[in-house]
Amino acid sequence: DDLPQSLVHVLRQHAESTPDAEAIVEVGGSRISYADLWRRASRVAGGLKEAGVTSGDRAAILTPAGNDWVVAFFGCLLAGAVAVPINTRFAEPEVQYVLDDSGARFVFRAGEPLPDGEPYLAPDPQLDTLAAIFYTSGTTGAPKGALTTHEGFLSNCENMIRGLSLPADVGADLRTLISVPLFHVTGCNSQLLVTIYTGGTSVILPALDLGVLLETIPYERINFLVTVPAVYQLLIGHPQFVDTDTSPVRWIGYGGAPIAPDLVHRIKAAFPQAVVANGFGMTESASLMTTLPDRYAAEHADSVGFVVPVDDIALHEPDPDTGVGELLVKGPNVTASYWNKPEQTAAAFLDGWLRTGDLARVDPSGLVYIVDRAKDLINRGGENVYSFEVENALAAAPGIGEVAVVGVPDEVMGEKVGAVVVPAPGSAEDPAAIVAYLQGKIADFKIPQYIQYRREPLPRNPGGKVVKPALRAELGDKEKWGKPLR
Ligand code: ATP
Ligand code: MG
Repeated sequence: DDLPQSLVHVLRQHAESTPDAEAIVEVGGSRISYADLWRRASRVAGGLKEAGVTSGDRAAILTPAGNDWVVAFFGCLLAGAVAVPINTRFAEPEVQYVLDDSGARFVFRAGEPLPDGEPYLAPDPQLDTLAAIFYTSGTTGAPKGALTTHEGFLSNCENMIRGLSLPADVGADLRTLISVPLFHVTGCNSQLLVTIYTGGTSVILPALDLGVLLETIPYERINFLVTVPAVYQLLIGHPQFVDTDTSPVRWIGYGGAPIAPDLVHRIKAAFPQAVVANGFGMTESASLMTTLPDRYAAEHADSVGFVVPVDDIALHEPDPDTGVGELLVKGPNVTASYWNKPEQTAAAFLDGWLRTGDLARVDPSGLVYIVDRAKDLINRGGENVYSFEVENALAAAPGIGEVAVVGVPDEVMGEKVGAVVVPAPGSAEDPAAIVAYLQGKIADFKIPQYIQYRREPLPRNPGGKVVKPALRAELGDKEKWGKPLR
C-alpha cells in the first residue's frame, strides 16, 4: 500500500536523487547512469509520440538484451504506451503472430536506431495503468498475452525483495547479472526491474556465454544472481567455476522452471556465503507467486515456498488421498485476462481465480509443492505418476546429464512411464543401472518402463523449460521407444 505510483516515478526518482549511479551495463558495450536512462527514455517516448503512438497503444520490443532494450522498455512507459516484449528467438511467423495478436502500433527491431524525439512524458501513469503485455513461454500451446499493470510490476519487486531478504537500504549497492531473456518475466520483472526499483546496477549479458558469465561475476562485483535451474546446472559444472572468485555473490534466486532438490543442494554448496530463494510464478502473475526463503531451502528443497503476502492461493478439487489439486491464484500482480483471447480467458478463470495449470499440494505450514503440470501428469492404468517426482529422483542418479519424463501411449495401461536421458559427459548408456538405482527410492509403478537415450540436449525454451510436447511428438508412438524394460 506504500508502493510508489508507477515504474516511471521510480525511475524519475533515481534519476533525480542518484543521477550518476550506474543503472545499466551491457557486457562488451556501454554503461549508462540513471540520469542517462531517464534522458534517453524521454527521447524515445518523444520519438514514439511523433510516430503516432498514443496512450494505451502497444509497442513491441524485438531488440536483443542490452541497453537499448531497457531504454525501449522505459521509453514505452514514459510515452504511456504498453510494452510488448517479444521472444527474440522466434521465427518470423511466430513474431508475426505476437505482432498481430497484440495489435502493435510500433516495433523496436534489432539493428535499428531507437526513435528519437523531443523529450516527452505522458500524463502520470497510475498503479492500475496497463504497462506491458508479456507472452507466455508457449510450453503447452500458443503463447498468450498476460497483462501487467504498474502495480503488478511494483508488487513483484516487493515480493522479490522480501523473498531474498534484501536489506531495505541495499540501494545502489545491488549489482545483478542478467543472463536470462528480458522478454520473459524472470529476467525483466524479478531481476532488471527489482534492481532498478532499489536503484542498483543491472549488468546485462547480450548472449548466454558461461565463460563470460563467470568472468563477469568478480569483474563487475556481482552480488545478486537470478537465473533458471538449467543455467545453474551448467554454471556449477563448468570447468572454470572452481577458479572463479564468486565470493561477491550474496543473493541467489532460482526458479522459472522445476528444479531437482539435488541441484538446490549443489547451488547452496557452490555459493556457501549466499542467501538463496526459490521463486515460483508465471507470466500471468508478473513473476512471483511463491518464494522459498533460504532457511527452508535445504530441508524443503522440493518446495516452492510460501505464497507472497499480496496474493491468495487455493487448490481446485484436491484429491482426498494426496491433497493434490490444481493451484489457483488471485492478487494484484495477476493478469485480469488474456489479451484478445476471450475463450482462453474464460477457460483460465474460475470465480475470479486464475487456474495456473500446475498441480500442487500445500502442507499445514503453508509450504507449496508443485508436483507436475496438469498437462504432463502421467496416468498409468489409473495410477497418477507425477513426472517431476520421477525426474527429481533421476537427477541424482549416476551418469545422468539431463532427463525428462513423459507418458508413453499404451493400449492396455493408457500410458506408461518413459524417461528421455541425455547421459553426462563420458557416461555410458546403462538403462538397467538406472532402474536398479530407482528401486526402493520411488514406488515400482513410477519407475520408467522405457528409457530413451539421446545425444543432443533436450529441447528447451529460453526459460530453460523442457518442451515436452516436442518430445512427445518426436517419440509419440510406442514403437519409437523400443522394447519396454520391464
Ligand atoms: P505456456 O503457458 O505458454 O504453456 P509456460 O507456462 O511455460 O508456457 P511461463 O509463464 O513462462 O510459461 O511459465 C510458468 C510455469 O513455469 C509455471 O506454470 C510452472 O509450471 C513453471 N514454473 C515456474 N517457476 C517454477 C518453479 N520455481 N518451480 C517449478 N515450476 C516452475
Ligand atoms: Mg503457462
